Amino acid sequence: MKKPNATVKEFIYPKLDRWKDSGLARWPVFTADDEVLRELHFELTYRCNLKCRICDLWGQERQDSTKVSLEMGADEIKRFVRGSKKLSRLEVLVLSGGEPLLKNDAVELVDFFTAHSPSASIGILSNLSNEELIRARLDEIFSRCAPRLWVGTSMDGIGPVHDKMRGAPGSWDRMVKTIAFLRERYPSVDVSITYTMTPHNYRELTAVHDWAEAHKCGFGAQYVVQKEGTEVFRWTRAQLGEVSRQVDALVDRLCRQADAVGHIYRDEADKLKWLWARLYYWRTLVDYGFEPKRYFPPCLAGRRYAMLDPWGNVSFCSPHKKKPVGNVRETPFDVLWENDKARRLREHIDAGRCDCWLMCTANPVIDRLLALALPSPVPVAP
Ligand code: SF4
Ligand code: SF4
Repeated sequence: MKKPNATVKEFIYPKLDRWKDSGLARWPVFTADDEVLRELHFELTYRCNLKCRICDLWGQERQDSTKVSLEMGADEIKRFVRGSKKLSRLEVLVLSGGEPLLKNDAVELVDFFTAHSPSASIGILSNLSNEELIRARLDEIFSRCAPRLWVGTSMDGIGPVHDKMRGAPGSWDRMVKTIAFLRERYPSVDVSITYTMTPHNYRELTAVHDWAEAHKCGFGAQYVVQKEGTEVFRWTRAQLGEVSRQVDALVDRLCRQADAVGHIYRDEADKLKWLWARLYYWRTLVDYGFEPKRYFPPCLAGRRYAMLDPWGNVSFCSPHKKKPVGNVRETPFDVLWENDKARRLREHIDAGRCDCWLMCTANPVIDRLLALALPSPVPVAP
């Protein structure tokens, strides 16, 4: 069969659409399996040593330091986690903040969660920018349980662009040194970089991607989520067009490296689900920038995915953080997870009345759609 005279993107994106439609057609309702809580994103503390432009957390401690003293401590956390059946089947646990490693009992809590969720992958999201303390705490943690842990961090540009976004001169240098330390001391630990795009740093997408690739780090990007307490981020079409151009270049490179077109022609598309998932994510990220809306009707937030803040408020996802369904200090987790507020919010989500495009909640849906669509008969060129 003759290959079409089209760019990789023009050839592959229609296939992605067909797989998506096929996956959606086979996913009419949520199954019992979808209702099992598998991923918890736990913000351990809102203390932080940086002052990122995108963030409304760091100012809180400076305004009212008593708030931090009211955050849950290790004993309280252990008690409510041990008391929950729903939290006993976690596959992914992400510990974040603020800067989670600034919490005094951070190491004790990582120890607790590694014992409590023996098969979960546990991620620590750190800004890696308080060299001595963070190195010492990571050292303490990884010297005991490196194989099951990974580190996530945010890089918002190279050098001065990152420093400006993070509100702290020298933060890029400190982060890079900490990554080098981790690479040397714990080479098996995965380090993953997230790049948050704003109208101030969007030109650095390719540069940060290439930095991550050269340093064997995972890479993902997303648009900034607008928070009430930060500056308002306004995009122009020209800026979004530049993001799209950079994403096209990444997509093209990914497809060529993995021989995406060849796999489709050889009827082996099911072997590259990881690639289709990434392409889906990138392609929809661009679409979302131009037209924010719900791109896939199903969302697993509030079923498979939950969030907790440092005071015990439980929510379904980051955009719904201001609408917690309850607090574990007042109500056991398993009870509040099934309460009326939670049920109403699930109805709201199922009706498609909220939208976002974030890696943590989009990727599980994409994976599920592709698993449903492939390896069904693989569509080849018309
Ligand atoms: S490192 Fe994280 S918590 Fe700290 S200011 Fe930046 S975005 Fe906010
Ligand atoms: S679509 Fe986004 S905002 Fe809505 S429930 Fe899912 S993750 Fe949350």
